[in-house]
Amino acid sequence: MDEFQYQIDLLKAQNQKLNGECSMYRTLVNTSGNAYLYYSYREDACQVMGDWDRFFDIQVRNRNDLTKLFSQVREEDVEPLRNAVYIDEKDASFAVRDFCKKDKKQWLECQVNVIRDEMGEPQEKLLRFRDITQFKKQNDDLAYMAYYDTLTGMYNRNRFIQELAGWLRQAEAEKTMVSVAFININDFRKINDGIGVLVGDELLQQFGRFLRGLCTDENMMCAHLNGDAYCMAVYDPYGRRTVEDLYRQIHERLEQPFVLTEHQVSITVSVGVAEYPEAAQEPLALIERAEIVMFKVKHEGKSGIRYFDAPIIEDFVQNAQMERKLKHAVLEKEFLLYYQPQFDTETKHLRGVEALIRWKDEDGRIISPGEFIPIAEKSSLIVDIGEWVMEKAVSILARLKKKFGISLIMSINISAVHFAMEEFSDHLIQLVEEYGISPEEIELEFTETVLMNDASGVIKKLELLRQYGIQTAIDDFGTGYSAFSYLRSLPVQTIKIDKSFIDSMLQDENGNIIVECIVDMVNRLGYDTIAEGVEQQEQLEYLRDIGCEYIQGYLLGRPMPEKQLEELLEEQLEKQVWE
Ligand code: C2E
Ligand code: CA
Ligand code: CA
Repeated sequence: MDEFQYQIDLLKAQNQKLNGECSMYRTLVNTSGNAYLYYSYREDACQVMGDWDRFFDIQVRNRNDLTKLFSQVREEDVEPLRNAVYIDEKDASFAVRDFCKKDKKQWLECQVNVIRDEMGEPQEKLLRFRDITQFKKQNDDLAYMAYYDTLTGMYNRNRFIQELAGWLRQAEAEKTMVSVAFININDFRKINDGIGVLVGDELLQQFGRFLRGLCTDENMMCAHLNGDAYCMAVYDPYGRRTVEDLYRQIHERLEQPFVLTEHQVSITVSVGVAEYPEAAQEPLALIERAEIVMFKVKHEGKSGIRYFDAPIIEDFVQNAQMERKLKHAVLEKEFLLYYQPQFDTETKHLRGVEALIRWKDEDGRIISPGEFIPIAEKSSLIVDIGEWVMEKAVSILARLKKKFGISLIMSINISAVHFAMEEFSDHLIQLVEEYGISPEEIELEFTETVLMNDASGVIKKLELLRQYGIQTAIDDFGTGYSAFSYLRSLPVQTIKIDKSFIDSMLQDENGNIIVECIVDMVNRLGYDTIAEGVEQQEQLEYLRDIGCEYIQGYLLGRPMPEKQLEELLEEQLEKQVWE
């Protein structure tokens, strides 16, 4: 009896424990946020638990009912989900599948576990459904951001490179071409900084949309690489499907402004084209080369289209090397100033000298300014170089004046970028005062292009310098815009007639007429004339006869170092040319 009572108590205790565990598991299942489906093979019965009703609106009672699940999902997910749910037939015990609900609002993960007996026969199956919508979305966002540009919705750089790599492989197999065009909006920074970033963004979007619209078949694609840079590619360019044709359409579109929310903006673009296989065989190299060609277009005239050719790259590499060396030269002050005398055509008196820079590189090679000034002008290096030249020229002038007790003009070549610096005039005036020379002894040489850029700002600066007493000259006169009408309004004192006119003066028929006209006009306007590059006695005589006051050229003196200039000054003094 006791034994019997003991058995009852034991069973009760076990039952209580089981009830406790059961309620614990139920709580776990119900608060997990998942839905569960339990299936017993022996009884062919299903039981659903947890958040089942939140996920599905179907009743599942037996194995047959399992097929109802498949009516709940997107068409393309039916087959993979069926394979997972019936894994028991495939002698496996575990499977996981992601699927999307039919209404596409919810992503679920289905995890299936099959429990088998010792013989391997399935006994029980548990399906767990988990909501992974949030996770999927984040993943998609990440994937989107990795391959698309979020501003324009176009392919980004990564995606473009990836697609292009595929195209190039195919082009290799099919022995065909792929054109890549690098498109850059000119002066985009002016729009962005001037009108505002939001306007800039809107413009980038609109232009991007337009480019996308041009890609009408699968053999064309475009991407927004960054900022103001886009790329387009054409597979097997042919007939109307060429970059040339795309450019024509872009060009036509840009004749009209972009109408933005609050502004209308007109733009121009520079386009560089590189083609597989000629320009490069790798996607990155192809894009890079198209970009280099684009830069070339920009530097030459700001808008238009140009195709890759080998000299462009050679030029580019050389310039890049030169720029690196030049930076070093600026730091190490590897420069020299030479001086070329200017003489009065009548009296042969020395008027002054033009300071001409030379670069003596590490190997002692003298590099002419024609080679490195244009490169320096593309970067801020020209400012450092220009400052060095000004200080050197002013200090030498002060020294020569003191040593020889003479007065002469020091002409200094000034680059546009340097002159545009706000502190330019203050610096120069400071130097003049520091070295105690008279401002009239300094003459700044500008080319016509400098004077035509931002004309009003330039003229204001020139006027200020003139008031102070510093002289100014137009260099290479006749080679720039040569709008004679502006001559009247410019605060300059001297016109330097370009060597090309002097060269043709006595050679070409009518060559003399141009020089005579210039000299006559300049004289009447009350400016001084200097003829540049005079190499022959006949040229000198002719110029003197037509009333050109001064000459500069190899005939009377090449650019020379300081020491030689001193000898020249001594010679001049001996000849008592100084009154
Ligand atoms: P530029 O200002 O027109 O200088 C005159 C150039 O003609 C000089 O070349 C000079 O050596 C050369 N030349 C003078 N007379 C004759 C002649 O009779 N025959 C021939 N064939 N040439 C003659 P350089 O010194 O090579 O300078 C070239 C250019 O580099 C200059 O042209 C000027 O634009 C620029 N440059 C020179 N020094 C400076 C500088 O300090 N700063 C800036 N920004 N540019 C400079
Ligand atoms: Ca000059
Ligand atoms: Ca010149």
